[in-house]
Amino acid sequence: MCSTILVVDDSVHVHKQIEVFLKTAGYSKLLFAESASQVFKHLNVESPEKEPNNVDLILMDINMPGLSGVEVCRQIKAIERLRDIPIVMVTAEDTDAGLQLAFDAGAVDYIKKPVSEVELVVRVGSVLKLKHEMDERKSREMELLNITSLLEESNQKLQQVNVILNRLSRIDGLTGIANRRHFDDLFCQEWKRAGRLSKPISLLLVDIDFFKNFNDTYGHQLGDECLKQVAGALSRALKRPCDIIARYGGEEFVSFLPETDEKGAIMVAETMQVNMANVNIPHRNSPVSDKVTVSIGVSTAVPSANLLAGTLIADSDKALYQAKQEGRNRIKITNR
Ligand code: GH3
Ligand code: MG
Ligand code: MG
Repeated sequence: MCSTILVVDDSVHVHKQIEVFLKTAGYSKLLFAESASQVFKHLNVESPEKEPNNVDLILMDINMPGLSGVEVCRQIKAIERLRDIPIVMVTAEDTDAGLQLAFDAGAVDYIKKPVSEVELVVRVGSVLKLKHEMDERKSREMELLNITSLLEESNQKLQQVNVILNRLSRIDGLTGIANRRHFDDLFCQEWKRAGRLSKPISLLLVDIDFFKNFNDTYGHQLGDECLKQVAGALSRALKRPCDIIARYGGEEFVSFLPETDEKGAIMVAETMQVNMANVNIPHRNSPVSDKVTVSIGVSTAVPSANLLAGTLIADSDKALYQAKQEGRNRIKITNR
């Protein structure tokens, strides 16, 4: 048995007697104290940073010179890290009042003096059994707490990853602006909102002119750089927080402008053209300019029950097609 038992008694004779009984019963790890100060020394009360010697049980005499066993018991129980060490009183005094004081101070049991071998061994055995069960339960609770906090931690990380994934799933990897999926979601919401408010909503489809030529002339990598710059130039034309620009696919961009009529939409399209001229990306093989240009199809509608959101996109597409047909680098409007 590897439990450590601290025997506290001011009589060395009692120490000897208890030592014989306990050793005979197999308890070999025994500590002895003759006074309160020796008890506190064993338990490192003065230096709380040290471990309390792993004492599993204290057999405590009540009547000692100086602090009584009851007072020592009370002081031990007041210290958090020592609170769980069971204390069994060993006493000649067995008046109700005396025992009540001992139990009030935190003792778990008591043994009458003169100590009977059988009683000592049986009581020590049952208190230690209980102590070990409690220790085990506590360590299982700690494990459970650790697992719970680990789970919470990984849950938090998962949520953070989800936020990032969600954001990534809505952003075009090359240009950093919204992707088509995000556009579709937002446009659907804004279309419904505009319908409820009976407000116009405008849609711009923007396509880079002769971009195949650009790639063929400068290579795909510079083609990618060009797409990023075009995305920037178009984005800068949008001034309201609810205006959205997205990469619609390939070298085509789409923008919707809530609460914007045709006049406002044309102004935005013109700003896009100006911004394109300002970014000044050379395109020596464009038949229409010496720099990269865009064609823009514009359409405006006030959503109603018999008008689908897709109609606005089809209108802009029609206008864009017209812009291409008429020579590119221009803005065309489809009127409803
Ligand atoms: P148009 O003026 O009629 O629009 O002619 P275009 O050459 O721009 O149109 P076309 O549809 O013939 O070609 C589009 C080109 O855009 C072909 C394709 O390789 C290029 N493209 C699409 N996506 C990307 C991309 O992510 N990176 C690069 N570098 N090129 C792309
Ligand atoms: Mg094109
Ligand atoms: Mg195209």
